[in-house]
Amino acid sequence: MKDLLEIIFSTDVDAIWHTLSSLAEKSNMNVPENVDKVLKDVYEIKDFSNPENFMRNAPPALLDAKNISTIANFISSWNKVVDAQNSLGYIVKFLDNVILNPEDNQLNLLRQTVSETMTVVIFSQPHRVEELLARFENLMRKYIIQYLEFHRKHNEELARIEPKFGELMDKIRIMENLYSIDILQPYCDTVEFKNFTDISRLFIPCKHTPTEDEIRQNFVCPQCRKTFLDEGIADYFKTSEQKVDKKFNDCMKALAYNLSDKIIDAENDPIKSLIQAIIVSDLNTIKNVFSDKVLDRIKKILENR
Ligand SMILES: [Zn+2]
Repeated sequence: MKDLLEIIFSTDVDAIWHTLSSLAEKSNMNVPENVDKVLKDVYEIKDFSNPENFMRNAPPALLDAKNISTIANFISSWNKVVDAQNSLGYIVKFLDNVILNPEDNQLNLLRQTVSETMTVVIFSQPHRVEELLARFENLMRKYIIQYLEFHRKHNEELARIEPKFGELMDKIRIMENLYSIDILQPYCDTVEFKNFTDISRLFIPCKHTPTEDEIRQNFVCPQCRKTFLDEGIADYFKTSEQKVDKKFNDCMKALAYNLSDKIIDAENDPIKSLIQAIIVSDLNTIKNVFSDKVLDRIKKILENR
């Protein structure tokens, strides 16, 4: 009994209380009542200043050996929780922020187990804190391997679509310019691609190769901050690609159709090259011919009909 009391009297209860309430706050909960009760008992015991005085003067209810033993066990284990408070706070942060691969059932289950046992371990079974840390480390390692693999593959895919992405952005810009000409508006309207251009930064491959440590700290690549939820972006690109291509063809056809009945005599007229390029779908030439000056001329030709 004396040993147990020594443990209780030598413990910094404020540190335990502070750690537990801070972990509870981070987990959006209150310190459970039974924990509150144990800590209150400890404060009450410590009011007797030392084990000898306690044993002489404490009321029988407090002196109960079983109770003292339970309290001392809790206190010893909570000291471990205090030691591990940074790691535990980090686990709470990870659980709150991480986005796992939704298709990986095993990892999602592991996360759920860690999340569910977390508060149980901290408040009711603090002797299991090391087991919790080990379980979390297992989850973390698996997550890091998966994330790094995702980051690599995802960016390889983006690198493959990068040239085509540049092409689509050129097409959208050309259509945006032509949209200012009334007669072409029904064919060159790019409003349906607003979302595509708004999220266009997501199509640009990340040049950074994140390290394990970076993922431990940020849970994602610190440069691009991509998550598993961005994985579908390549499919979205493919559907957008078809739509932009089709719209661009319609827009170019409308442009060529409206220009072709104008008499263009001069041999080196850029408008002539433009029409020829449209006929053979030569985006490069279309892009090169397409200066502000040419756009002005197209406007003049089409709007003075
Ligand atoms: Zn990145």
